[in-house]
Amino acid sequence: MGLLKTTGIVTKTTKFSENSLIVTIITKDFGKISAIAQNARTSKSRLIMGLQLFSYSEIVVYESRTKTGLFKLNEMNVIESFGNIRNDLTSLAYASYFAEVVNSVAVEGVADEDILSLFLNCLFALDKGLCSLEKIKAVFQWRIASISGYEPMVDVCGGCGNTDGEFSFDIFEGECFCSECASERTGLASLSDGMRKTLQYISEVESKKIFSFDAGEKAINYLSSLGEKYIEAQFDKSFGTLSYLKKVIGLDK
Ligand SMILES: [Zn+2]
Repeated sequence: MGLLKTTGIVTKTTKFSENSLIVTIITKDFGKISAIAQNARTSKSRLIMGLQLFSYSEIVVYESRTKTGLFKLNEMNVIESFGNIRNDLTSLAYASYFAEVVNSVAVEGVADEDILSLFLNCLFALDKGLCSLEKIKAVFQWRIASISGYEPMVDVCGGCGNTDGEFSFDIFEGECFCSECASERTGLASLSDGMRKTLQYISEVESKKIFSFDAGEKAINYLSSLGEKYIEAQFDKSFGTLSYLKKVIGLDK
C-alpha cells in the first residue's frame, strides 16, 4: 500500500460516474493497470492533459485495494502527448487499433518493456509521420506477435528444413513451407525472399531500429494485410478497431 511512481500510456478511458473516469494505462513497471481518476471531468482537474488517449506520462498512483479494486490516479505529468494523432482521423484509427491489440496482450501487474517500447515507437512514428501508415501497422503487428511468443518461423521450411526456393506462409502454424511441402497444404500465402527477410528483421532487430529497413510499398501493404490475419489467427481474436480502421481508410480514398 502506498504511492507508486511509473511511466505509462493511456490506452482507454471509460466514464465511471458523473465526474470520474476509469483509465487503462500500459505502464513500465506494473504492466497494464486500471485506475480511477476522480474529479477528472472538471475543467480544473490537474489530470486533464494526461488523461487524453495515447498521452505518455509520468504517473503517480495510490495503491488502494478498496471495494473497486482499482488504483487511484494521483498525478500525471505529460512527457509526450502525441497530439497530432488525435487531430487526424486516419492516424487516430491506426493508433486505436494498436491500443486494442496492446490492451488484449498486456497483462495486469506484469511489466513488459518490449510491449511498451513497441507501442511508444509506433505512436511516435504516427505522430511525427516518420514512415507510411501501412509500414507502421505492418511492423506493429509482426513485432507484437513475436513479443507475445508467436514469432513467425520464416528462415527454413517447416516441413523439410529447406532454406532456398519459393516459400508460402501458414498463418495458423506460423511457419513457412517450400513449394514441395506447401503442395500438401491449403490456404497458404505466398512469401517472397525479400518479405521473409523483412519479417525476420522486424522480429529480431533491437527496438530502436524497428523502422530502419527498406521494402517496396507493395510488399509493405501485403505484409500489413497478412499481419492482420496472422495476429487474429494466433491471438484467436478479432479486433473491432480494425474494422473501423478499414472504414476510415476506405473513406479516405
Ligand atoms: Zn519443405
